[in-house]
Amino acid sequence: MIISENMQQLVAGSSVIRKMFEEGLEMAKQFGAENVYDFSLGNPASPVPQAVTDAAVNILTTENTGMVHGYMKNAGYDDVRAKLAAHLNAQYGTDYEAGDLIMTVGAAGAMNCVFRALLAAGDEVIVFAPFFGEYRNYVANYGGTLKVIPANTEDFQPDADALRNAITDKTKCVIINNPNNPTGVVYSEETIRAIGEVLKEAEARIGHPVFIVADEPYRELVYDGVTAPFIPAIIPNTIYAYSYSKSLSLPGERIGYLALGKDAAEHDTLIGALTVANRILGYVNAPSLFQRVVADCTDVKADVAFYDRNRKLLYEKLTGLKFEVIKPQGAFYLFIKSPTKDETAFVARAKEEHILLVPGTTFGCPGYVRLAYCVSYEMIERSLPAFERLAAAY
Ligand code: PLP
Repeated sequence: MIISENMQQLVAGSSVIRKMFEEGLEMAKQFGAENVYDFSLGNPASPVPQAVTDAAVNILTTENTGMVHGYMKNAGYDDVRAKLAAHLNAQYGTDYEAGDLIMTVGAAGAMNCVFRALLAAGDEVIVFAPFFGEYRNYVANYGGTLKVIPANTEDFQPDADALRNAITDKTKCVIINNPNNPTGVVYSEETIRAIGEVLKEAEARIGHPVFIVADEPYRELVYDGVTAPFIPAIIPNTIYAYSYSKSLSLPGERIGYLALGKDAAEHDTLIGALTVANRILGYVNAPSLFQRVVADCTDVKADVAFYDRNRKLLYEKLTGLKFEVIKPQGAFYLFIKSPTKDETAFVARAKEEHILLVPGTTFGCPGYVRLAYCVSYEMIERSLPAFERLAAAY
């Protein structure tokens, strides 16, 4: 075979979520789209805000520059980064400047730049389960080892003591995804402070920085008055990764950024390395049009109400049917305890009712399943009798 052995393995184990999504499309052909309840993918159904569309049209039709589609610095347009830095500063009291930000190809592109910049073969990245399964690939891309701290199924907050025991002199960084995919849990300030203390201690012990990689595409999607603590303000050695995929419903446009505070260790070296990584990974730079669009849309808000309505309907229905569900405070996922030990059997049984869910094993947390409620309210309403039948089977 022409492809490498390593790639053959990756193809064989290719994303369960994507596979599920494709199966959903097949089922929709077979049974009719209105009879399939696809809760598998985090593809936001809330419409792109009109202001975003208007900004794109405006840039394309009125901006007097033939360079809208041109190359620019690998880190992105200076004026765009300056605007986003000012926006972060206004929100969080930080002191970012344009040079502290790098525009990226979404959060996925951002994290690949981070791991390309930090990892040598055998270096370790620590993550708390449950976690976004693609991290396995992002870390493996650069020969790193992903070390998983098992889920704290009490309240799904990361366990700082377990982190202390997991750090070795090979640890380069710790991923924190808040609000969390797949649980919808928002990590508290207390949790983040405890992690900060552990890192400080560990850095003194092992003699080099251990960075937090704060992966925050769901930052604005929070409910019931909860807010996610801004990690860079608590832990200076934080590489902050943001994406507009979820907040502005733009996952296909591939736009996000990295930010690194001036107090971070080896700031200038790291910014230089991240910028080169953006180029040599073949991204070259983040998409030019959408760099400009997001800079014009810093005040556009995510449609939190759209998801909150879905969250309430499904949470009430599923708990009413006696499913054990973690109450989500953020993102747009429900994490449901499987009524059978083997959650893949539960996922298969749900599929018989045309309900598509993702097994928790994908997220390093067997015994649970993930339901993505970033779908239309009408689809959820139509799915309710199917959930009743599913509950009756257990
Ligand atoms: N991180 C998490 C936790 C996600 O859930 C996702 C997408 O679902 C990503 C990163 C990738 O996002 P992006 O589209 O910005 O690359």
